[in-house]
Amino acid sequence: MLKLKLDHITKTYTGGELVTALDAVSLGFREHEFVAILGPSGCGKTTLLNIIGGLDRYDSGDLIINGLSTKAFKNNDWDAYRNNSIGFVFQTYNLIGHQTVLQNVEIALTLSGVSASERKNRARKVLVEVGLADQINKKPNQLSGGQMQRVAIARALVNDPDIILADEPTGALDSRTSTQVLDILKGISRERLVIMVTHNGELAKKYSDRTIRMLDGKIQSDSNPVEEVQTQEDFPMQSPSKFKKTAMSLWTATSLSFRNLLTKRGRTIITAFAGSIGIIGVALVLALSNGMSAYISSSQSDTLSNYPITITTNEQTIDFRGEGPTSGATAPWDTNVEFPDENILYSYDSQDSTQHKNVITQDYLDYIEELENELPEAVNDIAYTQGVTMNLLAKGEETVVKFETIPEPGGFNIGGNGTYWQELPEDDAFILTLYDLIGEGSRLPSGENEAVLVVDSYNRIDKAFFEKLGMTEDAENYQLTDFIGKTILNVIPNDDYYIKNGEIFTPASPADYETLFDSVEGTKLTITGILRPQEDATSNYLSTGLAYTPALTSLVMADAERSEIALAQEESDRHVLLGTPLDEEAKKNVLLTLGADTTPTAIRIYPRDYESKDLIKEYLNAYNADQAEEDQLIYTDLAETIASLTSTLINTITYVLTGFAAISLVVSTIMIGIITYVSVIERTKEIGILRSVGARKKDISRVFNAETLIIGFTSGVLGVGISYLLTFPINDLIENLTDIAGIADFNPLHAVALVVGSMILTLIAGFIPSRMAAGKDPVIALRTE
Ligand code: ADP
Ligand code: MG
Repeated sequence: MLKLKLDHITKTYTGGELVTALDAVSLGFREHEFVAILGPSGCGKTTLLNIIGGLDRYDSGDLIINGLSTKAFKNNDWDAYRNNSIGFVFQTYNLIGHQTVLQNVEIALTLSGVSASERKNRARKVLVEVGLADQINKKPNQLSGGQMQRVAIARALVNDPDIILADEPTGALDSRTSTQVLDILKGISRERLVIMVTHNGELAKKYSDRTIRMLDGKIQSDSNPVEEVQTQEDFPMQSPSKFKKTAMSLWTATSLSFRNLLTKRGRTIITAFAGSIGIIGVALVLALSNGMSAYISSSQSDTLSNYPITITTNEQTIDFRGEGPTSGATAPWDTNVEFPDENILYSYDSQDSTQHKNVITQDYLDYIEELENELPEAVNDIAYTQGVTMNLLAKGEETVVKFETIPEPGGFNIGGNGTYWQELPEDDAFILTLYDLIGEGSRLPSGENEAVLVVDSYNRIDKAFFEKLGMTEDAENYQLTDFIGKTILNVIPNDDYYIKNGEIFTPASPADYETLFDSVEGTKLTITGILRPQEDATSNYLSTGLAYTPALTSLVMADAERSEIALAQEESDRHVLLGTPLDEEAKKNVLLTLGADTTPTAIRIYPRDYESKDLIKEYLNAYNADQAEEDQLIYTDLAETIASLTSTLINTITYVLTGFAAISLVVSTIMIGIITYVSVIERTKEIGILRSVGARKKDISRVFNAETLIIGFTSGVLGVGISYLLTFPINDLIENLTDIAGIADFNPLHAVALVVGSMILTLIAGFIPSRMAAGKDPVIALRTE
């Protein structure tokens, strides 16, 4: 039975000039024999072996293997054929330098899916057969030429192939080692078909069973020809699928690449480090923006309790070009054109049209009142500012002075507005979330006749405050206990403070203050305690000075509303203090300050947190939705303005930094691409070897993809690790500079994403080089040095 049959095989090369390497060669080979092929250099011997071994493709004719035509073979049929049936032995050994002897032999088995332990056993066994039992853990460059060739023979044998193809296996060996190698091949040929190309006619004669001479791509002579060369029809048809298909597992590809990278440790580390720089950049930017956002949202919720949603009766400028309410076609902004080109100069009434005045009605107050029932969880406090002026007399030292309070319709306290006089929120617990009581015996006021002193975080109050109390003595400092329990203010009712004189009322003159303070049964205010902002509070709810209870406000308003002066002003169109005529608007203001009109001039709503604020705003918007434009009430949300400003800033910074980091990422990606390319060039020989033992194109690209993935993984882990370590000094530095702790906050999820991202990027970078590797012609790959 014929093992192999070549039927008019022709192979021509067209590189440059046309070379006919094989010219209609017809040959038969028996199941087991030792065939020596002789012939001058360039006559086509290697080409013949490569075609028999399925490493190269014939142009015409047919190669019949075990009676099976190969005309219809696909790439993977050839790969499987090489892996199952062929063992190659080359003149230059073609061992993989970074693999041990044992691993070099195992390689073919890894492709045919043999288990690890069986692989080792079989590889060991063939190595013992070729006499290398004690060399198995050496690297090829630690062996002699004869030993290397024996490793190559072991590799060729390990898969138990039917055919061994040896291309000048003794070409590089001295005569003593040559005979060793030939002895081994001779032994093999007792059970298999061995086809050996050689230059050495003497050795060929001595060892081989059959000698074939070639010249210029033709068979010149054959010492023991197969009598009759049957044609394909002589054999029953078999399916090419009789060969077990090869596949390299991902694990094999990874370990192959891993060991290759280990042999180039220095370069791998530098590559991974360079690749990690981009990752470090992105990781740090992410950590910073992460920490920054966390800081902002935490400080925002602090800030929210201090910066309320405010509805004031102040006039507000509204940008009608924006989304504000627009009214009617007569408005000049209806042109809607900024920077007009026409020869037009518009005149418009800024007073009339761009100002909006909130009119707080009873209806609205009821609506706000309802807010605390509707959204009890959302509201910390609702504070009202009253327009009524309290008549306050202070006796800080000997003299009694008037404690001036400036009516402040804005009613929004951000420290040091110069009034030093404000209402406390109703809810004691809320105050104590923001303020500490300091000083011995300090407590919160419990009624209209009690008040607290508010100091700043340094225990300070502006000198002007003490002057307002009549404490002009040059005492630089006081003691907290100088104030606790002291009664220094008297709130004088309107009827005692204003004297009616015909149509006109006159306020008490400074000369009368002393008598009024002592004799009038007003509301004497006792200071019960001292409040100081808590350490982590970011801003002040209360300004420094005095703070009284809402009970006092109610009391004063009730008293003012009934007072003679208020009633008189309600009746009159003239100012009851000045005697001047008043229009409706001005009269309303006077009524407010005298307490006749109890409508608040400002409402402040303190939300509990960010979500609450949105709910409250929704609630306020719902009121406006049903109202005509001029009846709507516009609120201001200072916290949002501040927060959106900072978050815009942070986003901008993040984008810019990410941009820079991305550039370094791109650079490192390109670099990894180049390094993979270099690796492909370096490992061309290895690609040829892998293909010769049956690796598919896919397996080759797998090897290089595994290599880039390892590099990507290493750079990712390195980058993430370095970034994590860097967050410590960065945090220290920033804390030293700004007192903000933990601004670089590394999110573990980002770490994972970055490692994965790094692997994806390097995979992309290595894609072209690994495709290139897979596409390499195995014959050419084996020829390169
Ligand atoms: P041998 O092994 O007998 O020395 P080869 O089989 O290597 O000869 O080559 C046979 C002929 O084919 C030679 O002329 C060689 O130059 C040519 N040849 C071999 N491979 C190629 C190739 N890849 N491209 C072009 N010509 C080739
Ligand atoms: Mg050759």
